[in-house]
Formats: sequence, structure tokens, C-alpha cells
Amino acid sequence: MQITRRRLMATGTAALAASGLPRIGWTQTTLRMGDTEITTLSDGTLSLPAEFIFGPMPSGELAQVLAPYGVDPAAPLTPPCNLTLLRRGDVLALFDAGSGTQFMPSAGMLPDALAAAGIDPFDVTHVIFTHGHPDHLWGVLDDFDEPYFANAEHMMGGVEFDYWMDDATVGSIGAERAAFAVGAQRRLSVVADAMTRFGDGDEVLPGVVAALTPGHTPGHMGFVIGEGAEAVMVLGDAIGNDHVAFARPGWVSGSDQDPEAAAATRLAMFDRITADDMGVIGFHLGHGGIGRVEAYGEGYRFAPIG
Ligand SMILES: [Zn+2]
Repeated sequence: MQITRRRLMATGTAALAASGLPRIGWTQTTLRMGDTEITTLSDGTLSLPAEFIFGPMPSGELAQVLAPYGVDPAAPLTPPCNLTLLRRGDVLALFDAGSGTQFMPSAGMLPDALAAAGIDPFDVTHVIFTHGHPDHLWGVLDDFDEPYFANAEHMMGGVEFDYWMDDATVGSIGAERAAFAVGAQRRLSVVADAMTRFGDGDEVLPGVVAALTPGHTPGHMGFVIGEGAEAVMVLGDAIGNDHVAFARPGWVSGSDQDPEAAAATRLAMFDRITADDMGVIGFHLGHGGIGRVEAYGEGYRFAPIG
């Protein structure tokens, strides 16, 4: 057993988790594909000003597009955060690490979700990142700034890793995202030695292929698990909500660092997903985040299985 400061202090918590407390909905949705089981786990929710996503969108049409979803274009957004857990044989792989305790009080709940699912973070074998934003990366360290998944191989796209580790990024990313850059570099520096970097098209695990999907961040990666209509794509934030990103994927979004590139990526992803009839798992999609994509009006809609 790995001994860390967190482990020494966690005994009481583990006993509590095992004591049969009611299971509140931490485990979101489960999908079985052959010998692979995919489950989403909740890290909680974010709270974002509406303009963070809707700022650059045409306000009149936006209200019409959002009406069927019950989303108020002026009210704060509270997107869910769904981490993807893949189990197959000895592999216990997480896609992204959640927010940790230093981003937003409504997020960083992954430790509770893991405990409810009976998973010890020390048993996680791989942590595979879509990108380096706080809600995906900051949970990589515990409150003692030690790796939370101490025995896992950490994996991130090489473009994305290099971007956040570049000292110039904090000065070029813009004031509103400067804290993201400082926070990412600090955390990635701790796990850099345990970090495997991969590229577009690389097989990060057997049957799991990385897909460069840039725009939300420079080196954002999605992942295709399985093949053809049996496949499911981990979207990360390249398709970042289940309302306007589906209904108008070509619209630029304020949440994307390079909005034009992100819109082009989204359109290409929807083409690929619908052509291959793939399932999808979205980090910020509702109802547990696993579902299918259906053509709908000018765009698409999310049909959750959860
Ligand atoms: Zn996110």
C-alpha cells in the first residue's frame, strides 16, 4: 500500500464511506461494451455567468434556441461535471481528474463519488486528460499537493501539456484565463515525471484512440472507445453543453479559447459522430452525460441514455 499524508489521515473517512450511508447519485450512468464497463461519476456542478458561453451569440435567436431547454440566456449556468471511468480487466482508467477543492465550492466532489462507487483512488491505473482547464485538471492533486491518484499513469496530449507548461502562456492567454494558466502549470509540474504525452490518433489504451479536437484549448483531445456503431466518443469540452452546442454547433462560444477553431471542430465532430453513429460521453452534458446524437432542426440534439 502506498503511504501518503492523505492516506494516514483518511482512515476515518473510509470507515464512514463503508458504513452504509445512503448512496446519493454520485454514479451517473453506466454503459457496457463487451468486456468494457463505462461509468460516469459526478464531480458536482460549476456556476458560470451566462455570458461565459452566450456572450458572442446572437441574442434574439439565442433566446428562441434555448427556450425548449428551459435555459434562461441571462441566468447563471450550472453545468454538471461528469468524469468518465473505464474498467476492463486490470485497467481502471479515469478521463480527467475533476476540480479538486480549490476551484469552486460546488465542484470537486469526485472523492465522494469514488467512495460511493467503492473505488480507492490508489487503485486507479490511468488518468487521461482531455485538456488542462481547472474543472478537468485541478483534482489531480490532493490538499497536500500530492498526486491524488498516486499509482496512476497520467496521460495528456503533448500539445496541451506543452501549452500549459510554457512560461509565456500566462502572459498571452488573456486576463480572464491567466489564473487557469498559473494553476495548470503548478499542478502539471508536480505530476510531470509521471505524465505520458500522446498525439492525435495514438492508442492511449487498447481500443481507445485519441482525437485532436482543438479550439476549446489548443491541444484538447477527445477519445474514441471501441469501433463503429459500437463506439462511444469521450467529448471533453469540445462539445461543451447539451443545448446551444448541439442546436447551433457552428456558433462561436465565449467558453472556447479560439472560438472559430472550436466551432469548426464541433461541426467536424458532429459529422463524424453521426456518420459512424457513435455514442457520446460529455463532461458537461446533462442526465449523466452518456447518450446519442440525433439530427434536430438546423443542428442536433442530445438523447441521454441515463
Ligand atoms: Zn470543463
